[in-house]
Amino acid sequence: MWGVLSAARTASPGRLRCLLGPCRARYSVRFHPEPLSRARASPAGAPAAARAPPPARHLFSDPAEVEALRGNLLSWYDRCKRDLPWRALAATEPDADRRGYAVWVSEIMLQQTQVATVIDYYKRWMQKWPTLQALAQASLEEVNELWAGLGYYSRGKRLQEAARKVVSELAGRMPRTAEDLQKLLPGVGRYTAGAIASISYGQATGVVDGNVIRVLCRLRCIGADSSSPAVIDRLWDMANVLVDSSRPGDFNQALMELGATVCVPKAPLCGECPVKQHCQAWRRVEKELAFASQKLFGKPPPVPDVEDCVGDCPLCLPATEPWDSSLGVTNFPRKAAKKPPRAMRTATCVLERRGCHGAPEYLIVQRPSSGLLAGLWEFPSLPLAQDLQEKKEREELADHLQAWIGRPVAAKGLQFIGEVIHIFSHIHQTYVVYSLHLDRDVTLDPALSPSRWVTEDEFHASAVSTAMKKVLKAHEKQRRKESSPVKGSKRKRGTKAQGAGSACPGAQLSLRAFLRAPTAP
Ligand code: SF4
Repeated sequence: MWGVLSAARTASPGRLRCLLGPCRARYSVRFHPEPLSRARASPAGAPAAARAPPPARHLFSDPAEVEALRGNLLSWYDRCKRDLPWRALAATEPDADRRGYAVWVSEIMLQQTQVATVIDYYKRWMQKWPTLQALAQASLEEVNELWAGLGYYSRGKRLQEAARKVVSELAGRMPRTAEDLQKLLPGVGRYTAGAIASISYGQATGVVDGNVIRVLCRLRCIGADSSSPAVIDRLWDMANVLVDSSRPGDFNQALMELGATVCVPKAPLCGECPVKQHCQAWRRVEKELAFASQKLFGKPPPVPDVEDCVGDCPLCLPATEPWDSSLGVTNFPRKAAKKPPRAMRTATCVLERRGCHGAPEYLIVQRPSSGLLAGLWEFPSLPLAQDLQEKKEREELADHLQAWIGRPVAAKGLQFIGEVIHIFSHIHQTYVVYSLHLDRDVTLDPALSPSRWVTEDEFHASAVSTAMKKVLKAHEKQRRKESSPVKGSKRKRGTKAQGAGSACPGAQLSLRAFLRAPTAP
């Protein structure tokens, strides 16, 4: 504590923020508690069920403070907001349906994905499908191709299904309120509905995403599990109280922007925060520092505020995990431990042949139209039981490949490339990668799932997942290793040793073979 204090006494605002966390990474991913909101079956804007009011310190009950907070946040947003393509469209698009569509696409893409990643996808999407009508006419294959690499692939599919519904059942007119958006559009939850309605149509309704959860929990020292329905309900109430009715879209974006760029998870920039005077977590840290400082200089220290509510407050930090001074404002929010992702192993084979121009071609097959990575293309793959012996693994993969290429595949002929790990939201997937070079053409069975041969460029332009791109990369790396002069010559020596004395025309004999006495035929 004293080390922290002496640093604090001399710290510039820039240094002071280092006391609050270990790094300065900026976070822009939106976590959306939509499934939870939907599970509660509480439509956007509906009054929450009767509950005891929370203690005052967890509320925004002073209208003057709310007014000041809105003003501070909005003027900061006007000065500091990032220039993002969907914001430009929301501000300039005069057609209300196009405007709502433009915001909707951005909100779906931003779910669980970094802003920096989304920008390029968003521009390409809006260029290709600038209207709901254009998207409704696209094929799922086209949607998957454009979405490839963005992750959570069902989002693109659901967006397109909902666009079709707007065109066919709502005469192309976007619902204008959060309640109708949530009720009428499949895949649109409470958060997305609130964001579209406030940003596109000026409805004064709050939003709660991962960034807002963090900011509100810190502003009001909410330390109970922030993923619990009770806390989420309180946060929605709070967001609806805070939202500025004259600029609801800007206010909601400002709150999220603050969470994405200033009030970040690990090292919030409290020194630069436009609402720090309204932040109870910040106030608590300052009081602790003042207390420690007075004690250090031998002055009678003021009795520090205990700050927690008296009794069993359902929103305070739990008694079992109380305030930790070393964490500062990052004591908030707290979350229940996540379930560890499920481990899965999948054998996958890069089947390669020479194309007509000599360039390699790869066999890709389409996944089923539902479930994980629905409708995407991949190398022939087979889920494996855990702890399967390598021999058995190869045999099972060889049988699987035989079904695709219509002729027997020797398990021994499969070359092991390596393992590729890919983390899906709830699955820790290990791809056990093999390759097989086919020396002659095969006839693909049209009765099986769709399959096709693609060049490398075609592979990357197809609707393939990031995991499959990693698999191809591992395969290419192995090929480069084999063809590099040092490694390549080693491998050739091995081959030659096995094949010494073969009838291969032009093959050079090793020195040992040259000196060996000829054997009788
Ligand atoms: Fe977040 Fe710090 Fe601002 Fe509080 S003062 S809202 S903790 S950045």
